[in-house]
Amino acid sequence: MKKQNFYDLNFEQLKAFLIDNAKVDRKKAKMRSQQLFNAVYKKNIKSFDELTTFGVELKNKIKDLISLEKPKIVDIQKSKDGTIKFLLELKDKRNVETVLIPDKTHSRYTICLSVSVGCYLSCEFCATAQISKKLVRNLSPGEIISQIILSKDYINDWSTQKKITNQVLMGEGSPFLNLDNVKIAIDNSKNKDGLDYGRTRITVSTVGVSIKKDSIDAIEWAAKELDVYLAWSLHSSIPKHRSELMPINEKYSINLLIPQLKKYYEKTKLPIFIEWICLEENMTNEHAKELIKIMKKVPSKLNLIEFNPLANKKYKPASQENIDKFSKTIQDNGFLSLFRRSRGRDINASCGSLANKKAIANE
Ligand code: SF4
Repeated sequence: MKKQNFYDLNFEQLKAFLIDNAKVDRKKAKMRSQQLFNAVYKKNIKSFDELTTFGVELKNKIKDLISLEKPKIVDIQKSKDGTIKFLLELKDKRNVETVLIPDKTHSRYTICLSVSVGCYLSCEFCATAQISKKLVRNLSPGEIISQIILSKDYINDWSTQKKITNQVLMGEGSPFLNLDNVKIAIDNSKNKDGLDYGRTRITVSTVGVSIKKDSIDAIEWAAKELDVYLAWSLHSSIPKHRSELMPINEKYSINLLIPQLKKYYEKTKLPIFIEWICLEENMTNEHAKELIKIMKKVPSKLNLIEFNPLANKKYKPASQENIDKFSKTIQDNGFLSLFRRSRGRDINASCGSLANKKAIANE
């Protein structure tokens, strides 16, 4: 019988699995699930043989039914700025990348997680899109959360004081096109007996896909079900230009998304992060004027991101002078604007550069 992967289940699903399959008493299922979560996500056990609070019979049952299998790290690259990029091999031999971005002290990290192999959204500034314009497959919940576990193992991050302090779901793929699996991974990240990350330590990104989920707009659904920071990859405030950069804009316009993003804020009380890659062409006065109109409608903060021209040579990075001017215009209108330098450029780990060439090229 095929074993159930532990990392693919959230707490409630594990409870139900233990009752239905391991015949754990209904009254004890919550306690057993807590013990298992603690052992795996806090004590980092590698095998159920290490369980100390389970009798032999139940331990053997769990061993027969559940696996702790994770992807394998097959390559590690380190940037001179301290960024670490992992190439992971999945069970079906496909690959994805995960990046650890250090803070200034190099003692704390943000992890950038991938959610799929390939992506069909074809954003012009993104390396994944330049290599393959198709989605090869979505990652399972376990393949998403394993990226954190494997990275924690690598930097020995199992003490109570976390070294990986923040998670951003901004690697390969679009989280809103893999919402069920992303939700399970985030559930387990937030669970107190799981990885125990606070809601403000996690950011999920969206290019702005206005699909329905359980009969409501997916963005509204995510406000309730994910309840973490939302980053909106806007990158241009002028519809025609945005459609050139991000073809998805043709389908889901800025105006269509604005009310949904407002609802996200109203439900979570977390401002939306507007992501803006700094190109020569989107730092104009007209862009700033239109962006301010959007920021007046959606409670938000602007994140300006340095563009790495390796992602697509067609575009040129904005000059620092233009970035500063653009940022000042936004700030002078009462909004927050932050500029983020690109990290890990020498190992193609910076924003928009993730693309497992090896895996995607073969598809
Ligand atoms: S930026 Fe994200 S959504 Fe756009 S093509 Fe790249 S991986 Fe897909």
